Amino acid sequence: MRIARILSPVHALGPGERVCLWVQGCGRDCPGCVSPELRPAVGGETDETLLAEILRRTAQANRCHGLTISGGEPFDQPQALLALLSQVRDQFDDILVYTGFRLEEIRGGSCGPAGRDCLAYIDVLIDGPYLRERNRPDCVLRGSDNQTIHYLAPALRPRYAAYLRQGRVLECFSHDGAVILTGIQDRRDEL
Ligand code: SF4
Repeated sequence: MRIARILSPVHALGPGERVCLWVQGCGRDCPGCVSPELRPAVGGETDETLLAEILRRTAQANRCHGLTISGGEPFDQPQALLALLSQVRDQFDDILVYTGFRLEEIRGGSCGPAGRDCLAYIDVLIDGPYLRERNRPDCVLRGSDNQTIHYLAPALRPRYAAYLRQGRVLECFSHDGAVILTGIQDRRDEL
């Protein structure tokens, strides 16, 4: 899997302490892309078994029970995503994945059989393309209000409802000599 970075413990992209993985590569072209540096599908190749072990150890070290996968576009690498999810499923009690695809597209086979199979390992899917003009500050966990939070594991809905009530959260991390801001930012000033 091509990956860009792993940060932990993250609180800005889902409830509780989380490990967050950003994949590298995205074939979309959202105007006002929030992560242009993650679009080129180059570099960051990491074996999924090794990556699963890194996530496992990172979670143990930081007492994280949640995993968030963002990007980039995770479903542009469906085979790798499936290989990873199947190996980390038992490690995390809450796996959240962001995608620019719609859930119906994934179910319909737009990301191939592997993409469809990934859904069995995901608890919460936030889907849909990012639309800069619909980035509203009350839109917690979502980049724009056209995106939908799908509770594939319905038991997690109350936990997320409590999290969503607190509003958007931003966190800063130092990573590879740079400051990384995580969470959903208000970008209406870019319109
Ligand atoms: S899906 Fe995300 S990374 Fe890809 S172009 Fe859109 S905003 Fe950028």
